[in-house]
Amino acid sequence: MATKQIKRFASVDETQCVGCGNCIKACPRGAVSVPQGIVAKVDSEQCVGCGLCAKACPASVITIKEAERGAEPAANKMPRNTPVNGKNGHKWYDYLWIASLTYLILGFVNILFAWLGLICFFVPLAISIVKGNKAYCNKYCGRGQLFDLLGNRFGLSRKRDIPRFLKSTAFRYGFLIFFLVMFGNMLFATYLVFAGSGSLRQAVTLLWTFKLPWQFAYHGTLFAPWVAQFSFGFYSVMLTSTVLGLVTMLLFKPRSWCAYCPMGTMTQGICRLKHRGEGGQTVTEDSADLSCPPE
Ligand code: SF4
Ligand code: SF4
Repeated sequence: MATKQIKRFASVDETQCVGCGNCIKACPRGAVSVPQGIVAKVDSEQCVGCGLCAKACPASVITIKEAERGAEPAANKMPRNTPVNGKNGHKWYDYLWIASLTYLILGFVNILFAWLGLICFFVPLAISIVKGNKAYCNKYCGRGQLFDLLGNRFGLSRKRDIPRFLKSTAFRYGFLIFFLVMFGNMLFATYLVFAGSGSLRQAVTLLWTFKLPWQFAYHGTLFAPWVAQFSFGFYSVMLTSTVLGLVTMLLFKPRSWCAYCPMGTMTQGICRLKHRGEGGQTVTEDSADLSCPPE
């Protein structure tokens, strides 16, 4: 006669998931994926309910639930702690935090290196538009890896849940719009220098407010002044987002920035549009919390 046993499993609130993929890296069983760049899905066969994904989730949208099920022979189960993401599972892209750190340092050496930051702008967009997924957030984001390293490995994070408003749809899309407006503002300042109606400002603007003198990183250039103006403006954007990410890393979970990162919001929105009508990942309040049904 079959006996009943309790099955623990991870359950994702799909209405709140931002598709960042931190749960993918955290899961030792390879049980989580973000298949269409929209929300995380949990393979209930592989999930053992250990809760590591819930600890890593910056939006705190994973809960571990319990349900009764018919007992099965343990031998039929995959061995626990399969090192999918263990030491042997590290890939080259797990070290992209070095590139992010180098980028920040180069901005102190020669501001023209700021142009390299466009890679972090166009690559996520290209992946989401062409491939229809969030592979950039899920795998290649060096900045997210840096926050993870500082918060987890160096123990700098308090690892608290972020306030609800920071992960709300209204805030995330509001912040994205604000970010785009400020980006447009930066492009306009570059245009003014290009058109000769503005002069080059050798300053980096932090948090869209504080102007930091940055002439030490400008050594004259063979290029036109607008090229340098764009560098100062773009580095301001990159430094500001890094500072915001660092502050939320310290106060909340290490990769809390992922919960409201404008690029993450934008690429998730693109994936939603791209997969609209395909079913499966269309999330409504009614379909939430179904990602890992009990067996
Ligand atoms: S918000 Fe990120 S870490 Fe949390 S469930 Fe969704 S994809 Fe996973
Ligand atoms: S609770 Fe399940 S999905 Fe989450 S880390 Fe553990 S095995 Fe993976």
